[in-house]
Amino acid sequence: MSWRLSDKLAEKINHYSSFPATAVSLRQMVQFGQHPSGGTLFRGAQFLSEELPIRLAHRVKELNNLPDGLSEMPSIQKVRNWYAQSFEELTELPRPKIPIELRELLINANRKKSNGERNGKVLLENTENPSLAGEDYRPITRKNHLNSRRYFVLLDDSLKWSPEIYEYNKKFTKCLSIIKRRHDPVVTTVAQGINEYKHSRQRMQIDSSIQSFLDRFYMSRIGIRMLIGQHIALNEEPSRGDYVGIICTKTNVRELAQEAIENARFICEDYYGLFDAPKVQLVCKPDLNFMYVPGHLSHMLFETLKNSLRAVVETHGSMAEEFPPVKLIVAEGKEDITIKISDEGGGIPRSAIPLVWTYMYTTVQSTPSLDPDFSKSDFKAPMAGFGYGLPLSRLYARYFGGDLKLISMEGYGTDVYLHLNRLSSTSEPLQ
Ligand code: ADP
Ligand code: MG
Repeated sequence: MSWRLSDKLAEKINHYSSFPATAVSLRQMVQFGQHPSGGTLFRGAQFLSEELPIRLAHRVKELNNLPDGLSEMPSIQKVRNWYAQSFEELTELPRPKIPIELRELLINANRKKSNGERNGKVLLENTENPSLAGEDYRPITRKNHLNSRRYFVLLDDSLKWSPEIYEYNKKFTKCLSIIKRRHDPVVTTVAQGINEYKHSRQRMQIDSSIQSFLDRFYMSRIGIRMLIGQHIALNEEPSRGDYVGIICTKTNVRELAQEAIENARFICEDYYGLFDAPKVQLVCKPDLNFMYVPGHLSHMLFETLKNSLRAVVETHGSMAEEFPPVKLIVAEGKEDITIKISDEGGGIPRSAIPLVWTYMYTTVQSTPSLDPDFSKSDFKAPMAGFGYGLPLSRLYARYFGGDLKLISMEGYGTDVYLHLNRLSSTSEPLQ
């Protein structure tokens, strides 16, 4: 598909990028999506149809102004175009006309009075907008509730019945799904762009301005995908057990940890051809749960566990009779849930510690090829080799107000501390 950034679109993007993004907290997302009616979902769509273009516009602008010619790398331009195209699709999606009238109608209905119900429809008269007088609207059937206190409830409930709203919600969700899929390969494609840059400049490492761009960029991506994922999930499955969209109000840490351990060990056995990967001892109360996005927690656990297993196997040799176990300890505090992953994998030299947080730093000799298709849903490298595991996991932790810290004892092993904020009221960290 050939798509190019027109001057007109560039101008529009420039305009949107002058507005600041609005940060949302985990709690706000849960409160908003707890019992979504058609009207709630519509208000969500309205918020996103403003907020997402703002966030996308900031990214386009930044991708256009990267230091040292990075913006000119073909893969960076490709990603820039995805952001601009998604911006265009969101801002060009026709907004429904009806809701405004309906809203007006309801406001008027609150003030004046409807003249009763006929055939399940309410006929309104004396509205302040003469063009609406006498029109009937099936939605407003509960005439007894037409008082101002019930206004929003009524509005939300009523909107559900408006075919225009229903159609719009559907179209908007479809639009978001397309955008989400388009942006699946963003992490690998940006990584490719960095590779192109390293080659063209003959650089081994990226400097701090590029590192902080990547931190901002990927953090922003986590936020955008969170909002999109949440909206799609609310529209597709309004309620599902303890879930509100993709947020689980009772994320069970032990279960997720167990699953991550199995997955990481399986990949480790596969990668090193081991019969039995190092064991992982899990210390966690079975009923420990908190409000979180299980997908994010799984990602962090999986990445840190893979690192530990790799360090243990490579330090002790894949032919070792026995490996010292990795320990995964979960502590529950009032403020934080802290997860410590300890290994006896030899640790990391102190001089290399700052490097582990840089993107694409890896001690794997031959980096596997960057195939944008290998991760459909998100960036999940196989065993190791992309150097994205730690920096991305730290962004996930920080996104909801947590953090990821690493302490190494060179010659012995490494402790990774994953702090997860359980107060859920911190807003997204947006610059
Ligand atoms: P990758 O695993 O793809 O190399 P990461 O960001 O996950 O990328 O880790 C970067 C590097 O940090 C690893 O290549 C490894 O050298 C080092 N590292 C990470 N975790 C550990 C650990 N638990 N023990 C020893 N070294 C580690
Ligand atoms: Mg890793």
